[in-house]
Amino acid sequence: MKVTRFRGKSMGGSSAINYMVYIRGNRRDYDNWAELGNPGWTYREVLPYFKKAENNQDVESRNRYYHGVNGPLNVERYPYIDVNTVMLVEAFQQRGLPLTDLNGERQIGTDIAQSTSLNGIRMSVNSAYIKPIRHKRPNLKIITQAHVTKILIDPFRKAAYGVKYIVNGIRYKAYSTKEIIVSAGSLNSPKLLMLSGIGPRGHLESLGIPVLADLRVGSNLMDHVTTDALILVLSNKTSTLVGDERLLSEIYQYHDQPPDKKQGPLSATGTLSATAFIKTEYSDYDDAPDVQFHFDGRNVQDYYADPSTYAATNTFPLSFYDGLAARPLLLTPKSRGYLLLNFSDPVFGQPLIYSNFFTVQNDVDKLLSAMRFVVSLEDTEAFKLRGANFVKVPVEACAAYPWGSSDYFACLLIQYTSSIYHPAGTCKMGPIWDPGAVVDPRLRVYGINKLRVVDASIMPVLVRGNTNAAVVMIGEKAADMIKGDWSSLF
Ligand SMILES: Cc1cc2nc3c(=O)[nH]c(=O)nc-3n(C[C@H](O)[C@H](O)[C@H](O)COP(=O)(O)OP(=O)(O)OC[C@H]3O[C@@H](n4cnc5c(N)ncnc54)[C@H](O)[C@@H]3O)c2cc1C
Repeated sequence: MKVTRFRGKSMGGSSAINYMVYIRGNRRDYDNWAELGNPGWTYREVLPYFKKAENNQDVESRNRYYHGVNGPLNVERYPYIDVNTVMLVEAFQQRGLPLTDLNGERQIGTDIAQSTSLNGIRMSVNSAYIKPIRHKRPNLKIITQAHVTKILIDPFRKAAYGVKYIVNGIRYKAYSTKEIIVSAGSLNSPKLLMLSGIGPRGHLESLGIPVLADLRVGSNLMDHVTTDALILVLSNKTSTLVGDERLLSEIYQYHDQPPDKKQGPLSATGTLSATAFIKTEYSDYDDAPDVQFHFDGRNVQDYYADPSTYAATNTFPLSFYDGLAARPLLLTPKSRGYLLLNFSDPVFGQPLIYSNFFTVQNDVDKLLSAMRFVVSLEDTEAFKLRGANFVKVPVEACAAYPWGSSDYFACLLIQYTSSIYHPAGTCKMGPIWDPGAVVDPRLRVYGINKLRVVDASIMPVLVRGNTNAAVVMIGEKAADMIKGDWSSLF
């Protein structure tokens, strides 16, 4: 099982490289966070922060109760709508799913998803929040190329007071008078905490790191797991594959268009905005989905030329393709993974990630059900009209099973496992009585003063949707909590 762990190492973090799909998750997710002992995190209480962040361009067609129009993060439909995006959304409707605002009253259904972009240009959290104030605020200093290696913590007062970092091989320290906020993401925030003496005692001691707080940092790792190997082939009615010359001309055209008038296939991400949320027979709730579907462009010609390429090559850019990877994403994984520091190079080495995907049978069952559902789209008029079909040549590692059988689909999940890059939960938020909690409901690290974590790692349970919008909400809410905590002292 090979699972790649992409992360955005740049201003804006992973929002600078992500697929820009704007989905918040389900109201049940946040109500559940609160029920787990985290006051202030019900859906009703977090909705204002989603709205505060959002500048929704398509608000006329949506219920205003759920959407904001004055926030820094632009949310829109791409200016260009891909032909197969339309086919997929139609097919889902023909299989009984309603058209719905996926961030509104009811999440179960289908739609052309909105994206975090402005006129077809990516809007990362850097573009939304930092660019407008950069060089304008005297209290904002940005140091790029800086790699933080440790949080400085006074071992007697158990209080954070600074960080150690390296820029171009030179070591520095930065000090804080108030508090340190760690936002290094679900893989690096736990790493940084552990390097600083906050983590599971046994693991830290095995690396000779003095323990300042014995907490389950790095546990509770969750992700939206899927497979790479369920492939649709498109007929020449809707294939968008182009040759090198046409691709180059599309790139020049896009480049030359003014920023507010981007058009054409490169102002969108192919079929990535065609999505749907379903509830399988294993779902815990009637009104909350447990599977989402995504489709990304592939080159199936490569696959037919050499079936050992198993899942057809990923196309780049995503707008030009002759096949699609049909991905059922498990929204509600019951399995939990963990991560540890790299034993040979704890500071600069990648953390060791133990995903533990599919260690709970229920996770497999849900995706099997979802795979049967997505394959049944072949019977819809939308697919038939355009001649879209699943590639029924068994992939190499699963050739022992008949294509389409449960054994075959289970084999795809295990042999061609993939994540959709939504790791979360490794610095879990929870009440004091939760032995797995790393931060409290105000995101302060247990046992260490003046230290907060604010990113995807605090999610106690993964949300039912792409994680960026939820992380932005967490940031907005944390900003208010921090202001509240400090202003009440004066
Ligand atoms: C390829 C990809 C596609 C995705 N597609 C979508 C999508 O379409 N929609 C969606 O909603 N979500 C998507 N996501 C997920 C979403 O982007 C992330 O959940 C979100 O960006 C996580 O935010 P974060 O702040 O927790 O971490 P990150 O965005 O990863 O930010 C962490 C930051 O910390 C910095 N950092 C880490 N360690 C150190 C250190 N030691 N010193 C200094 N700096 C450090 C990193 O450079 C980075 O800037 C995708 C993610 C990826 C990788």
